[in-house]
Amino acid sequence: MTEEKSRDAIVIGAGIVGICTALALREKGFAVTVLDRLGPAEATSHGNAGVVSPWSCVPQSMPGLWKSVPKWLLDPAGPLTVRWSYMPRMLPWLGKFLGAGAPGRLPAIADAMLAVNRPSLDLYHQLLAGSGDEALVKDCYYLHVSRHDGGADPNDLAWRLRRERGVPFEALSGDQVREIEPALSPDIKSAIMIRQQGRTLNPGRLGKVLAAKAQAMGVRFPLAEVRGIVPLPDGGYRIDIEGGSHAAGTVVLAAGAWSARLLGPLGVRVPLEAERGYHLIFKDPGITLTHSIMDADNKFVTSSMEMGVRSAGTAEFAGIDAAPDYRRAQVFVGHSKSLLPALNTEETVEWMGRRPSPPDSVPYIGEVPGYPRLFHGFGHGHLGLTGAPMTGRMVAALATEEPLNIDMKPYRLDRFGG
Ligand SMILES: Cc1cc2nc3c(=O)[nH]c(=O)nc-3n(C[C@H](O)[C@H](O)[C@H](O)COP(=O)(O)OP(=O)(O)OC[C@H]3O[C@@H](n4cnc5c(N)ncnc54)[C@H](O)[C@@H]3O)c2cc1C
Repeated sequence: MTEEKSRDAIVIGAGIVGICTALALREKGFAVTVLDRLGPAEATSHGNAGVVSPWSCVPQSMPGLWKSVPKWLLDPAGPLTVRWSYMPRMLPWLGKFLGAGAPGRLPAIADAMLAVNRPSLDLYHQLLAGSGDEALVKDCYYLHVSRHDGGADPNDLAWRLRRERGVPFEALSGDQVREIEPALSPDIKSAIMIRQQGRTLNPGRLGKVLAAKAQAMGVRFPLAEVRGIVPLPDGGYRIDIEGGSHAAGTVVLAAGAWSARLLGPLGVRVPLEAERGYHLIFKDPGITLTHSIMDADNKFVTSSMEMGVRSAGTAEFAGIDAAPDYRRAQVFVGHSKSLLPALNTEETVEWMGRRPSPPDSVPYIGEVPGYPRLFHGFGHGHLGLTGAPMTGRMVAALATEEPLNIDMKPYRLDRFGG
């Protein structure tokens, strides 16, 4: 393959990960085309909770988690649901998920998560500088609040993992946290505040602003449904789309929860679940929040955005194609009112999205084994908004063979055995 050909890049997926990857590749001099059936940031990256969380290093699978699962599943307003007809298909993933929560595996997982997430806030500030939309990402605290004394316990394993990695957090009383965020209910008895956090006022618009920046730098975003990735005899790939094809020497698969489906025909199997989550926007909330708030009892996040107050969260395992069950979004009416008593819940907008979740909460970032110059950046689960800018940098460094000073083994696609 000629040098010129390998400098043509196609990114599959215009979510926040694909957009940040396109920007990073363009900065390295690649001619970049991003293919997506939707416009930029219109799938999962549109509706998340907006937390830019540089200190996130605690995976979803933790020792003892299974003890809470029956209680959650029995509660219709609980944070977890499984459609029972889907259960047999997710069992292999579930086995790997529970295995990832073994105490001995946690430190390496936490380090790998932190390496991707830690630079996020600085990188977003850099990416937005000069755009006129710098205020889309604000510095803030992340307040984990509870209705119980010690409901968010700084001595439990999750907080110990954070402390060992230098996460700047401190425990607060209910009164102390209400001084910081006065709209919180008097029922809130304890909190943990993480400093040096960020939040976006509109995740979808953030993606669109960054895509517009990429476009101004020459990146193309044609609408296209990708049907297949076909290796070419002389190197590079043909990307079959509905009604035609594209070709490039360098390809990056960043198709979020749909990525595993596109790898299947290449004989590459990768454990990835569409972990569905919901949001509800309270359009005329009557209150304003200045920080991201995690309700540690009901396991959802709420914050003020351009569209109103958005409450988001829940994990639903039902398969990637199942229809949304918006009762999961309506749960946020009661939960949000209990957290923020003055919230006006009259006018709402509901949404469902698919987190691309690997069993161990570590994104898949690297080169597909056996497929030179087919790179991948997907599987960011609960933290794709946060991990996107660094993922773009990592993929661009791999594509240019520049040193990264990061051990890439934890992010390998075949770490569960291929
Ligand atoms: C309720 C909820 C709350 C969340 N809160 C946060 C948060 O506060 N902070 C945080 O960091 N993360 C959060 N997340 C996670 C975050 O939203 C995701 O990890 C992130 O959006 C994934 O980005 P992505 O670019 O990988 O995927 P996506 O945004 O889903 O983009 C993938 C793109 O690929 C395209 N695509 C797929 N297949 C094809 C094909 N065959 N042809 C053409 N196009 C294709 C899709 O159309 C889509 O646009 C949350 C998620 C949910 C659901």
